[in-house]
Amino acid sequence: MSELVISDLRATVDGKEILKGVTLTVRSGEVHAVMGPNGSGKSTLSNVLMGKPGYVVTGGSVTLDGVDLLAMATWERAQAGLYLAMQYPVEVPGISVKDVLAEAYAASSRDRQLVPSLMATEADLIGFEREFLDRPLNVDLSGGEKKRNETVQMAVLGPKIAILDELDSGLDVDALRAVSRRIELATTEGFSGGERLGVLAITHYNRLLEELHPDVVHIFANGQILESGGPEIATRLEETGYAAWVEEEEQAAPTAAARPVVDDPFFSDGLL
Ligand code: ADP
Ligand code: MG
Repeated sequence: MSELVISDLRATVDGKEILKGVTLTVRSGEVHAVMGPNGSGKSTLSNVLMGKPGYVVTGGSVTLDGVDLLAMATWERAQAGLYLAMQYPVEVPGISVKDVLAEAYAASSRDRQLVPSLMATEADLIGFEREFLDRPLNVDLSGGEKKRNETVQMAVLGPKIAILDELDSGLDVDALRAVSRRIELATTEGFSGGERLGVLAITHYNRLLEELHPDVVHIFANGQILESGGPEIATRLEETGYAAWVEEEEQAAPTAAARPVVDDPFFSDGLL
């Protein structure tokens, strides 16, 4: 049984406080959904957990099975069993996903020869073209293909705890179902017979949660968890939006800023 314990976590970016005391525990086999509006700090939370440079932790703690994660380099956190499926996966020309995973296996004293067949199996499971496995990592892949690629990498690495940062964005309905089912299966059976997977699924839509059934849903806004509860919270969110949780002026700001930008020189607003 593994346990990721986040306790009163605070962090700044560019001197601005983004995480304002986040407390959350994810255990093996559990699915926690973190739902929040754009700009609320969801990706910041995932980046801080994984140790992306540029974020300064100003308070609180994060442990995985009692070991201090914040003192570790990113690769050490990965070896300890943490995986981040990135919101915007990075393109790496000149190196294939197969190379990456073979190196990761070797670095953790696992047999790199196992990688190709495991990758092929996982790619087939979620409908990811095998030819991409030998191509440069994420280069020229569509948004949905990148997300499937992230899922293959996760399944081959077999982490204890996975953070999924908007894994649903860019995936069509069929791919979303395949990917969510793969992850759901890992939460009950583990990857390759290992420990059951614990999941922190960051999303702002309900769609992902129709297949990947959350045990706990957390409403996250302005760098904090405002409410935690069962899946019924996600249903409530679908009906009311974040308005039930967030101050009115905070809701109004993005709407006002979201006025359509007209860059079409032939655009007519009907006044001519
Ligand atoms: P979300 O994922 O919920 O949409 P983010 O965590 O990406 O939100 O962003 C939260 C806030 O932190 C935003 O105001 C964003 O501009 C700021 N931020 C996040 N990362 C950086 C960064 N690397 N540099 C500067 N500002 C950042
Ligand atoms: Mg984000």
